[in-house]
Amino acid sequence: SFQISLKAIVNDACASYSTLERLNRNVKPALDELVQTTDFFSHYRLNLFSKKCPFWDDENGMCGNIACAVETLDNEKDIPEVWRASELGKLEGPRAKHPGKSMQLEEPVKPLHGKLGENVGESCVVEYDDECDDRDYCVPEDERAGSKGDYVSLLRNPERFTGYAGDGARNVWDAVYRENCFQKSSFPHSASLGKVPTPKGPAAMDFKAVIEAAGRQQVLESERQHNPLTPFVAKTGLEHEDECLEKRVFYRVMSGMHASISTHLCWDFLNQTTGKWQPNVACYKSRLHQFPDRISNLYFNYALLTRAVAKLGPYLAQHEDYTFCTGDPGQDAATRAKVLAVTEEAASVPQIFDESLMFKNGEGPSLKEDFRNRFRNVSRLMDCVGCDKCRLWGKLQTAGYGAALKVLFEFDNNHQPEVPVLKRTELVALFNTYARLGSSLNAIQKFRTMLDDAEGPK
Ligand code: FAD
Repeated sequence: SFQISLKAIVNDACASYSTLERLNRNVKPALDELVQTTDFFSHYRLNLFSKKCPFWDDENGMCGNIACAVETLDNEKDIPEVWRASELGKLEGPRAKHPGKSMQLEEPVKPLHGKLGENVGESCVVEYDDECDDRDYCVPEDERAGSKGDYVSLLRNPERFTGYAGDGARNVWDAVYRENCFQKSSFPHSASLGKVPTPKGPAAMDFKAVIEAAGRQQVLESERQHNPLTPFVAKTGLEHEDECLEKRVFYRVMSGMHASISTHLCWDFLNQTTGKWQPNVACYKSRLHQFPDRISNLYFNYALLTRAVAKLGPYLAQHEDYTFCTGDPGQDAATRAKVLAVTEEAASVPQIFDESLMFKNGEGPSLKEDFRNRFRNVSRLMDCVGCDKCRLWGKLQTAGYGAALKVLFEFDNNHQPEVPVLKRTELVALFNTYARLGSSLNAIQKFRTMLDDAEGPK
Protein backbone atom coordinates (compact mmCIF):
# COMPACT_ATOMS: atom_id res chain seq x y z
CA SER A 1 0.00 0.00 0.00
CA PHE A 2 1.05 3.59 -0.44
CA GLN A 3 2.74 5.36 2.36
CA ILE A 4 3.52 9.00 2.76
CA SER A 5 7.23 8.80 3.33
CA LEU A 6 7.46 11.90 5.35
CA LYS A 7 8.84 10.66 8.59
CA ALA A 8 9.98 14.02 9.82
CA ILE A 9 6.76 15.90 9.58
CA VAL A 10 3.81 13.68 8.85
CA ASN A 11 3.46 11.01 11.40
CA ASP A 12 3.84 7.88 9.32
CA ALA A 13 2.19 5.59 11.75
CA CYS A 14 -1.17 7.06 11.00
CA ALA A 15 -0.74 8.83 7.71
CA SER A 16 -0.99 6.00 5.26
CA TYR A 17 -3.17 6.70 2.28
CA SER A 18 -5.90 4.52 3.65
CA THR A 19 -5.99 6.46 6.91
CA LEU A 20 -6.40 9.71 5.05
CA GLU A 21 -9.03 8.17 2.81
CA ARG A 22 -10.96 6.99 5.84
CA LEU A 23 -10.70 10.42 7.37
CA ASN A 24 -11.93 11.93 4.14
CA ARG A 25 -14.97 9.67 4.16
CA ASN A 26 -15.86 11.08 7.57
CA VAL A 27 -15.08 14.72 6.86
CA LYS A 28 -16.41 14.97 3.32
CA PRO A 29 -20.16 14.97 3.98
CA ALA A 30 -19.89 17.85 6.46
CA LEU A 31 -17.43 19.68 4.25
CA ASP A 32 -19.57 19.34 1.13
CA GLU A 33 -22.56 20.50 3.09
CA LEU A 34 -20.63 23.57 4.17
CA VAL A 35 -19.29 24.61 0.77
CA GLN A 36 -22.35 23.62 -1.21
CA THR A 37 -25.23 24.78 0.91
CA THR A 38 -24.10 27.93 2.69
CA ASP A 39 -24.08 31.31 0.99
CA PHE A 40 -20.96 32.34 2.80
CA PHE A 41 -18.79 29.44 1.68
CA SER A 42 -20.16 28.99 -1.81
CA HIS A 43 -19.06 32.43 -2.96
CA TYR A 44 -15.64 33.93 -3.22
CA ARG A 45 -14.51 37.49 -3.55
CA LEU A 46 -11.46 38.25 -5.62
CA ASN A 47 -9.94 40.58 -8.14
CA LEU A 48 -10.32 38.33 -11.09
CA PHE A 49 -9.98 40.74 -13.96
CA SER A 50 -8.37 43.86 -12.67
CA LYS A 51 -4.85 42.68 -11.96
CA LYS A 52 -2.25 42.23 -14.65
CA CYS A 53 0.35 39.53 -14.62
CA PRO A 54 3.24 41.27 -12.87
CA PHE A 55 5.93 38.98 -14.23
CA TRP A 56 5.61 38.91 -17.96
CA ASP A 57 3.54 40.27 -20.74
CA ASP A 58 0.73 37.76 -20.72
CA GLU A 59 -0.81 38.47 -24.09
CA ASN A 60 0.34 35.08 -25.36
CA GLY A 61 -1.04 33.29 -22.39
CA MET A 62 -4.60 34.38 -22.73
CA CYS A 63 -6.95 31.62 -23.63
CA GLY A 64 -9.32 34.19 -25.02
CA ASN A 65 -7.01 34.73 -27.94
CA ILE A 66 -7.20 32.45 -30.90
CA ALA A 67 -3.57 31.36 -30.84
CA CYS A 68 -3.93 29.82 -27.44
CA ALA A 69 -7.20 28.15 -28.27
CA VAL A 70 -5.88 26.66 -31.49
CA GLU A 71 -2.84 25.43 -29.69
CA THR A 72 -4.80 23.69 -26.98
CA LEU A 73 -7.33 21.71 -28.94
CA ASP A 74 -6.84 19.87 -32.18
CA ASN A 75 -9.20 20.99 -34.88
CA GLU A 76 -10.48 23.76 -32.70
CA LYS A 77 -12.45 25.22 -35.55
CA ASP A 78 -14.38 21.99 -35.97
CA ILE A 79 -15.57 22.10 -32.42
CA PRO A 80 -18.86 23.82 -31.70
CA GLU A 81 -18.18 27.16 -30.19
CA VAL A 82 -19.54 26.34 -26.75
CA TRP A 83 -16.96 23.61 -26.32
CA ARG A 84 -13.95 25.63 -27.33
CA ALA A 85 -11.25 26.32 -24.78
CA SER A 86 -11.97 30.02 -24.80
CA GLU A 87 -15.62 29.33 -24.00
CA LEU A 88 -14.97 26.59 -21.48
CA GLY A 89 -12.66 28.78 -19.50
CA LYS A 90 -15.19 31.56 -19.12
CA LEU A 91 -17.03 32.26 -15.93
CA GLU A 92 -20.70 31.50 -15.70
CA GLY A 93 -23.46 33.17 -13.82
CA PRO A 94 -23.86 36.79 -12.93
CA ARG A 95 -21.05 38.40 -11.08
CA ALA A 96 -22.10 40.58 -8.25
CA LYS A 97 -20.68 44.00 -7.70
CA HIS A 98 -19.39 44.85 -4.31
CA PRO A 99 -21.58 47.44 -2.66
CA GLY A 100 -18.61 49.70 -2.08
CA LYS A 101 -16.98 50.98 1.03
CA SER A 102 -19.23 53.92 1.73
CA MET A 103 -22.26 51.69 1.88
CA GLN A 104 -20.48 49.31 4.21
CA LEU A 105 -19.58 52.11 6.54
CA GLU A 106 -23.08 53.40 6.63
CA GLU A 107 -24.69 50.06 7.25
CA PRO A 108 -22.13 47.70 8.60
CA VAL A 109 -24.47 45.21 10.14
CA LYS A 110 -27.65 45.37 8.16
CA PRO A 111 -28.36 43.11 5.25
CA LEU A 112 -27.29 44.71 2.03
CA HIS A 113 -29.67 44.75 -0.84
CA GLY A 114 -28.81 43.48 -4.25
CA LYS A 115 -28.45 39.95 -5.44
CA LEU A 116 -25.50 37.67 -5.63
CA GLY A 117 -25.94 34.84 -8.03
CA GLU A 118 -29.27 33.30 -7.24
CA ASN A 119 -31.14 34.48 -4.21
CA VAL A 120 -28.05 35.18 -2.22
CA GLY A 121 -28.19 38.10 0.14
CA GLU A 122 -24.90 39.91 0.21
CA SER A 123 -25.01 40.03 3.95
CA CYS A 124 -23.65 36.50 3.96
CA VAL A 125 -20.64 37.11 1.83
CA VAL A 126 -19.75 40.73 2.23
CA GLU A 127 -16.34 41.51 3.59
CA TYR A 128 -15.50 44.09 6.23
CA ASP A 129 -12.13 43.09 7.55
CA ASP A 130 -9.59 44.17 5.00
CA GLU A 131 -6.41 44.83 6.91
CA CYS A 132 -3.21 43.42 5.54
CA ASP A 133 -0.98 41.52 7.87
CA ASP A 134 2.75 40.79 7.67
CA ARG A 135 1.96 37.24 8.47
CA ASP A 136 -0.10 36.64 5.36
CA TYR A 137 1.21 33.99 3.01
CA CYS A 138 -0.72 35.42 0.13
CA VAL A 139 -1.11 38.76 -1.47
CA PRO A 140 -4.36 39.96 -0.03
CA GLU A 141 -6.95 40.08 -2.71
CA ASP A 142 -7.64 43.72 -1.97
CA GLU A 143 -4.01 44.75 -2.47
CA ARG A 144 -4.95 46.92 -5.40
CA ALA A 145 -6.31 50.24 -4.28
CA GLY A 146 -9.84 51.07 -5.30
CA SER A 147 -11.61 48.01 -6.56
CA LYS A 148 -13.12 45.64 -4.09
CA GLY A 149 -13.28 42.83 -6.56
CA ASP A 150 -16.05 40.60 -7.69
CA TYR A 151 -18.06 37.92 -5.99
CA VAL A 152 -18.17 34.69 -7.88
CA SER A 153 -20.41 31.71 -7.33
CA LEU A 154 -18.16 28.70 -6.89
CA LEU A 155 -21.03 26.30 -7.47
CA ARG A 156 -21.73 27.77 -10.87
CA ASN A 157 -18.11 27.63 -11.86
CA PRO A 158 -16.87 24.17 -10.98
CA GLU A 159 -13.21 23.35 -11.32
CA ARG A 160 -13.00 21.11 -14.36
CA PHE A 161 -11.53 20.71 -17.82
CA THR A 162 -11.27 24.01 -19.65
CA GLY A 163 -8.84 23.29 -22.47
CA TYR A 164 -6.39 25.85 -21.08
CA ALA A 165 -2.94 24.56 -21.98
CA GLY A 166 0.08 25.38 -24.11
CA ASP A 167 2.79 27.93 -23.40
CA GLY A 168 0.63 30.11 -21.19
CA ALA A 169 -0.17 27.34 -18.71
CA ARG A 170 3.32 25.90 -18.88
CA ASN A 171 4.92 29.29 -18.12
CA VAL A 172 2.88 29.57 -14.96
CA TRP A 173 3.67 26.08 -13.71
CA ASP A 174 7.35 26.48 -14.56
CA ALA A 175 7.51 29.72 -12.63
CA VAL A 176 5.68 28.15 -9.69
CA TYR A 177 8.29 25.42 -9.46
CA ARG A 178 11.16 27.84 -9.86
CA GLU A 179 10.00 29.53 -6.70
CA ASN A 180 11.20 26.37 -5.06
CA CYS A 181 14.83 27.33 -5.50
CA PHE A 182 15.79 28.28 -1.99
CA GLN A 183 19.39 28.90 -2.97
CA LYS A 184 20.58 31.77 -0.96
CA SER A 185 24.10 32.24 -2.27
CA SER A 186 23.65 32.10 -6.02
CA PHE A 187 20.04 33.10 -6.21
CA PRO A 188 18.39 36.38 -5.37
CA HIS A 189 16.59 36.13 -2.11
CA SER A 190 12.90 36.00 -2.59
CA ALA A 191 12.39 38.78 -0.10
CA SER A 192 13.26 41.09 -2.95
CA LEU A 193 11.05 39.19 -5.34
CA GLY A 194 8.29 39.37 -2.84
CA LYS A 195 8.12 43.07 -3.34
CA VAL A 196 7.31 43.16 -7.02
CA PRO A 197 5.03 46.13 -6.78
CA THR A 198 3.57 46.97 -10.12
CA PRO A 199 3.22 45.28 -13.45
CA LYS A 200 6.23 45.63 -15.71
CA GLY A 201 8.24 47.66 -13.21
CA PRO A 202 11.96 47.09 -12.81
CA ALA A 203 11.28 44.36 -10.30
CA ALA A 204 9.35 42.47 -12.92
CA MET A 205 12.45 42.57 -15.08
CA ASP A 206 14.46 41.16 -12.23
CA PHE A 207 12.09 38.32 -12.03
CA LYS A 208 12.59 37.58 -15.69
CA ALA A 209 16.33 37.40 -15.15
CA VAL A 210 15.71 35.15 -12.21
CA ILE A 211 13.59 32.85 -14.31
CA GLU A 212 16.31 32.61 -16.89
CA ALA A 213 18.95 31.96 -14.29
CA ALA A 214 16.77 29.36 -12.65
CA GLY A 215 16.01 27.79 -16.00
CA ARG A 216 19.64 26.92 -16.40
CA GLN A 217 19.63 25.12 -13.11
CA GLN A 218 16.25 23.63 -13.34
CA VAL A 219 16.01 20.04 -12.25
CA LEU A 220 14.03 17.91 -14.63
CA GLU A 221 11.16 16.14 -13.07
CA SER A 222 12.54 12.73 -13.97
CA GLU A 223 15.74 13.61 -12.20
CA ARG A 224 13.79 14.96 -9.33
CA GLN A 225 12.01 11.70 -8.95
CA HIS A 226 15.22 9.80 -8.76
CA ASN A 227 16.87 12.28 -6.55
CA PRO A 228 17.37 10.75 -3.12
CA LEU A 229 16.59 14.11 -1.58
CA THR A 230 13.10 14.22 -2.96
CA PRO A 231 11.31 11.86 -0.61
CA PHE A 232 10.85 13.13 2.86
CA VAL A 233 13.53 11.18 4.51
CA ALA A 234 14.33 10.79 8.12
CA LYS A 235 15.30 13.63 10.37
CA THR A 236 18.99 13.08 9.70
CA GLY A 237 18.70 15.02 6.45
CA LEU A 238 17.33 18.12 8.03
CA GLU A 239 20.57 19.75 9.00
CA HIS A 240 21.79 20.00 5.39
CA GLU A 241 20.59 23.14 3.69
CA ASP A 242 20.21 21.44 0.34
CA GLU A 243 17.83 18.98 1.86
CA CYS A 244 16.02 21.47 4.02
CA LEU A 245 12.60 20.52 5.10
CA GLU A 246 11.03 23.87 4.30
CA LYS A 247 12.10 23.70 0.68
CA ARG A 248 10.68 20.26 0.30
CA VAL A 249 7.44 21.22 1.97
CA PHE A 250 7.10 24.17 -0.40
CA TYR A 251 7.62 21.89 -3.38
CA ARG A 252 5.15 19.35 -2.09
CA VAL A 253 2.45 21.94 -1.51
CA MET A 254 2.82 23.26 -5.07
CA SER A 255 2.99 19.84 -6.64
CA GLY A 256 0.04 18.64 -4.58
CA MET A 257 -2.01 21.64 -5.70
CA HIS A 258 -1.04 20.95 -9.30
CA ALA A 259 -2.00 17.29 -8.86
CA SER A 260 -5.37 18.26 -7.45
CA ILE A 261 -6.07 20.55 -10.40
CA SER A 262 -5.04 17.76 -12.80
CA THR A 263 -7.31 15.34 -10.97
CA HIS A 264 -10.30 17.62 -11.36
CA LEU A 265 -9.72 18.31 -14.99
CA CYS A 266 -9.38 14.57 -15.69
CA TRP A 267 -12.40 13.73 -13.56
CA ASP A 268 -14.71 16.33 -15.04
CA PHE A 269 -13.43 16.09 -18.58
CA LEU A 270 -15.22 17.07 -21.75
CA ASN A 271 -15.42 14.30 -24.29
CA GLN A 272 -15.26 16.37 -27.42
CA THR A 273 -16.81 13.66 -29.53
CA THR A 274 -19.90 13.01 -27.49
CA GLY A 275 -20.10 16.39 -25.80
CA LYS A 276 -20.44 14.62 -22.44
CA TRP A 277 -18.64 15.57 -19.28
CA GLN A 278 -17.12 12.41 -17.86
CA PRO A 279 -14.03 10.98 -16.17
CA ASN A 280 -11.09 10.42 -18.49
CA VAL A 281 -9.01 7.48 -17.28
CA ALA A 282 -6.26 8.02 -19.86
CA CYS A 283 -5.87 11.57 -18.58
CA TYR A 284 -5.55 10.25 -15.03
CA LYS A 285 -3.05 7.63 -16.09
CA SER A 286 -0.76 9.97 -17.96
CA ARG A 287 -0.84 12.87 -15.51
CA LEU A 288 -1.15 11.17 -12.15
CA HIS A 289 -0.98 7.41 -12.03
CA GLN A 290 2.42 7.32 -13.68
CA PHE A 291 3.74 9.81 -11.15
CA PRO A 292 3.20 8.38 -7.66
CA ASP A 293 5.09 11.32 -6.20
CA ARG A 294 2.38 13.69 -7.44
CA ILE A 295 -0.30 11.60 -5.79
CA SER A 296 1.75 11.44 -2.64
CA ASN A 297 1.96 15.24 -2.65
CA LEU A 298 -1.79 15.48 -3.01
CA TYR A 299 -2.23 13.31 0.08
CA PHE A 300 0.41 15.36 1.82
CA ASN A 301 -1.69 18.46 1.20
CA TYR A 302 -4.73 16.70 2.53
CA ALA A 303 -2.84 15.97 5.75
CA LEU A 304 -1.65 19.57 5.92
CA LEU A 305 -5.09 21.06 5.43
CA THR A 306 -6.63 18.64 7.88
CA ARG A 307 -4.21 19.80 10.52
CA ALA A 308 -4.86 23.48 9.76
CA VAL A 309 -8.62 23.04 9.86
CA ALA A 310 -8.44 21.02 13.08
CA LYS A 311 -6.22 23.64 14.66
CA LEU A 312 -8.51 26.45 13.61
CA GLY A 313 -11.60 24.87 15.18
CA PRO A 314 -11.07 26.06 18.76
CA TYR A 315 -10.28 29.60 17.58
CA LEU A 316 -13.49 29.78 15.61
CA ALA A 317 -15.48 28.31 18.45
CA GLN A 318 -14.05 30.85 20.89
CA HIS A 319 -14.23 33.92 18.71
CA GLU A 320 -17.86 34.59 18.27
CA ASP A 321 -17.02 37.81 16.49
CA TYR A 322 -16.54 35.79 13.33
CA THR A 323 -19.92 36.36 11.81
CA PHE A 324 -20.84 34.49 8.68
CA CYS A 325 -24.04 36.31 7.86
CA THR A 326 -24.10 39.76 9.33
CA GLY A 327 -27.72 40.42 8.64
CA ASP A 328 -29.20 37.11 9.61
CA PRO A 329 -28.44 35.61 13.02
CA GLY A 330 -30.20 32.35 12.13
CA GLN A 331 -28.11 31.80 9.05
CA ASP A 332 -25.01 32.90 10.91
CA ALA A 333 -25.60 30.27 13.58
CA ALA A 334 -26.36 27.57 11.02
CA THR A 335 -23.21 28.34 9.04
CA ARG A 336 -21.12 28.42 12.20
CA ALA A 337 -22.48 25.01 13.22
CA LYS A 338 -21.54 23.60 9.82
CA VAL A 339 -18.03 25.01 10.08
CA LEU A 340 -17.56 23.49 13.51
CA ALA A 341 -18.89 20.13 12.29
CA VAL A 342 -16.02 20.11 9.78
CA THR A 343 -13.34 21.22 12.22
CA GLU A 344 -14.46 18.61 14.74
CA GLU A 345 -14.28 15.79 12.21
CA ALA A 346 -10.85 16.99 11.10
CA ALA A 347 -9.71 16.97 14.72
CA SER A 348 -11.04 13.47 15.33
CA VAL A 349 -7.81 11.75 14.31
CA PRO A 350 -4.47 11.99 16.09
CA GLN A 351 -2.37 14.88 14.84
CA ILE A 352 -1.03 13.82 11.48
CA PHE A 353 1.10 16.79 10.58
CA ASP A 354 3.64 18.27 12.91
CA GLU A 355 4.30 21.83 11.86
CA SER A 356 6.40 22.53 14.92
CA LEU A 357 9.31 20.80 13.18
CA MET A 358 9.53 23.53 10.60
CA PHE A 359 11.47 26.79 10.82
CA LYS A 360 13.27 25.49 13.86
CA ASN A 361 16.92 25.09 12.95
CA GLY A 362 19.49 27.88 12.91
CA GLU A 363 18.08 29.57 9.88
CA GLY A 364 14.52 29.09 10.95
CA PRO A 365 13.23 32.64 11.08
CA SER A 366 14.81 33.80 7.81
CA LEU A 367 13.65 30.64 6.09
CA LYS A 368 10.17 31.35 7.25
CA GLU A 369 10.27 34.80 5.71
CA ASP A 370 11.72 33.31 2.54
CA PHE A 371 9.00 30.68 2.49
CA ARG A 372 6.30 33.29 2.97
CA ASN A 373 7.68 35.52 0.23
CA ARG A 374 7.88 32.67 -2.22
CA PHE A 375 4.34 31.82 -1.41
CA ARG A 376 3.30 35.40 -2.06
CA ASN A 377 5.02 35.27 -5.43
CA VAL A 378 3.04 32.20 -6.35
CA SER A 379 -0.08 34.04 -5.35
CA ARG A 380 0.89 36.89 -7.71
CA LEU A 381 1.67 34.38 -10.43
CA MET A 382 -1.96 33.37 -10.45
CA ASP A 383 -2.71 36.67 -12.18
CA CYS A 384 -0.76 35.26 -15.12
CA VAL A 385 -3.24 32.41 -15.62
CA GLY A 386 -4.99 33.13 -18.89
CA CYS A 387 -8.30 31.38 -18.34
CA ASP A 388 -10.94 32.87 -16.07
CA LYS A 389 -12.10 29.69 -14.41
CA CYS A 390 -8.58 28.38 -13.95
CA ARG A 391 -7.52 31.70 -12.49
CA LEU A 392 -10.47 31.67 -10.11
CA TRP A 393 -9.58 28.24 -8.75
CA GLY A 394 -5.85 28.87 -8.93
CA LYS A 395 -6.25 32.01 -6.85
CA LEU A 396 -8.68 30.44 -4.45
CA GLN A 397 -6.46 27.42 -3.80
CA THR A 398 -3.29 29.46 -3.45
CA ALA A 399 -5.14 31.61 -0.92
CA GLY A 400 -6.41 28.44 0.77
CA TYR A 401 -2.91 27.03 1.22
CA GLY A 402 -1.74 30.46 2.31
CA ALA A 403 -4.42 30.53 4.98
CA ALA A 404 -3.51 27.00 6.08
CA LEU A 405 0.15 27.94 6.43
CA LYS A 406 -0.83 31.02 8.37
CA VAL A 407 -2.83 28.90 10.78
CA LEU A 408 -0.03 26.36 11.08
CA PHE A 409 2.86 28.74 11.52
CA GLU A 410 1.41 31.97 12.86
CA PHE A 411 -1.27 30.73 15.22
CA ASP A 412 1.10 30.02 17.96
CA ASN A 413 0.92 26.72 19.72
CA ASN A 414 2.02 28.36 22.95
CA HIS A 415 -1.05 30.52 23.20
CA GLN A 416 0.62 33.82 22.55
CA PRO A 417 -1.87 36.57 23.13
CA GLU A 418 -1.77 37.94 19.62
CA VAL A 419 -3.33 35.71 17.04
CA PRO A 420 -3.39 37.04 13.48
CA VAL A 421 -6.73 37.74 11.97
CA LEU A 422 -7.98 35.28 9.42
CA LYS A 423 -9.89 37.27 6.86
CA ARG A 424 -13.20 35.97 5.68
CA THR A 425 -11.92 35.40 2.17
CA GLU A 426 -9.15 33.33 3.73
CA LEU A 427 -11.70 31.22 5.58
CA VAL A 428 -13.71 30.66 2.42
CA ALA A 429 -10.54 29.79 0.51
CA LEU A 430 -9.31 27.44 3.23
CA PHE A 431 -12.48 25.37 3.46
CA ASN A 432 -13.01 25.25 -0.29
CA THR A 433 -9.42 24.17 -0.84
CA TYR A 434 -9.93 21.45 1.73
CA ALA A 435 -13.09 20.42 -0.10
CA ARG A 436 -11.19 20.33 -3.42
CA LEU A 437 -8.62 18.01 -1.90
CA GLY A 438 -11.32 15.81 -0.45
CA SER A 439 -12.93 15.45 -3.83
CA SER A 440 -9.53 14.77 -5.42
CA LEU A 441 -8.91 11.93 -2.96
CA ASN A 442 -12.29 10.53 -3.87
CA ALA A 443 -11.65 10.80 -7.58
CA ILE A 444 -8.21 9.21 -7.33
CA GLN A 445 -9.68 6.18 -5.57
CA LYS A 446 -12.34 5.83 -8.25
CA PHE A 447 -9.81 6.28 -11.01
CA ARG A 448 -7.66 3.53 -9.50
CA THR A 449 -10.60 1.16 -9.60
CA MET A 450 -11.51 2.17 -13.14
CA LEU A 451 -7.95 1.60 -14.28
CA ASP A 452 -7.80 -1.80 -12.57
CA ASP A 453 -11.07 -2.76 -14.23
CA ALA A 454 -9.87 -1.57 -17.62
CA GLU A 455 -6.55 -3.35 -17.38
CA GLY A 456 -7.99 -6.57 -15.99
CA PRO A 457 -6.19 -9.08 -13.79
CA LYS A 458 -2.42 -9.00 -14.06
P1 FAD B 1 0.91 20.59 -17.04
O1 FAD B 1 -0.12 20.14 -16.06
O2 FAD B 1 0.80 21.96 -17.60
O3 FAD B 1 2.31 20.45 -16.33
C1 FAD B 1 3.51 21.08 -16.82
C2 FAD B 1 4.71 20.27 -16.36
O4 FAD B 1 4.78 20.30 -14.93
C3 FAD B 1 4.60 18.80 -16.71
O5 FAD B 1 5.13 18.55 -17.97
C4 FAD B 1 5.41 18.14 -15.63
O6 FAD B 1 6.79 18.19 -15.92
C5 FAD B 1 5.16 19.02 -14.43
N1 FAD B 1 4.10 18.53 -13.56
C6 FAD B 1 2.85 18.19 -13.88
N2 FAD B 1 2.13 17.86 -12.81
C7 FAD B 1 2.97 18.00 -11.75
C8 FAD B 1 2.82 17.80 -10.37
N3 FAD B 1 1.65 17.45 -9.82
N4 FAD B 1 3.89 18.00 -9.59
C9 FAD B 1 5.07 18.38 -10.12
N5 FAD B 1 5.27 18.60 -11.42
C10 FAD B 1 4.23 18.41 -12.23
N6 FAD B 1 -6.83 23.28 -16.92
C11 FAD B 1 -8.11 22.88 -16.87
O7 FAD B 1 -8.57 22.18 -17.78
N7 FAD B 1 -8.94 23.21 -15.82
C12 FAD B 1 -8.48 23.98 -14.80
O8 FAD B 1 -9.24 24.31 -13.88
C13 FAD B 1 -7.13 24.44 -14.83
N8 FAD B 1 -6.63 25.21 -13.84
C14 FAD B 1 -5.36 25.65 -13.92
C15 FAD B 1 -4.85 26.47 -12.90
C16 FAD B 1 -3.57 26.95 -12.96
C17 FAD B 1 -3.05 27.81 -11.85
C18 FAD B 1 -2.74 26.64 -14.08
C19 FAD B 1 -1.34 27.19 -14.19
C20 FAD B 1 -3.23 25.83 -15.08
C21 FAD B 1 -4.52 25.33 -15.01
N9 FAD B 1 -5.03 24.48 -16.01
C22 FAD B 1 -6.32 24.06 -15.93
C23 FAD B 1 -4.16 23.96 -17.07
C24 FAD B 1 -3.57 22.58 -16.64
O9 FAD B 1 -3.05 22.64 -15.32
C25 FAD B 1 -2.42 22.14 -17.54
O10 FAD B 1 -1.44 23.14 -17.58
C26 FAD B 1 -2.87 21.81 -18.94
O11 FAD B 1 -3.90 20.86 -18.91
C27 FAD B 1 -1.70 21.26 -19.79
O12 FAD B 1 -1.22 20.09 -19.20
P2 FAD B 1 0.16 19.43 -19.53
O13 FAD B 1 -0.06 17.99 -19.72
O14 FAD B 1 0.85 20.19 -20.59
O15 FAD B 1 1.02 19.54 -18.18
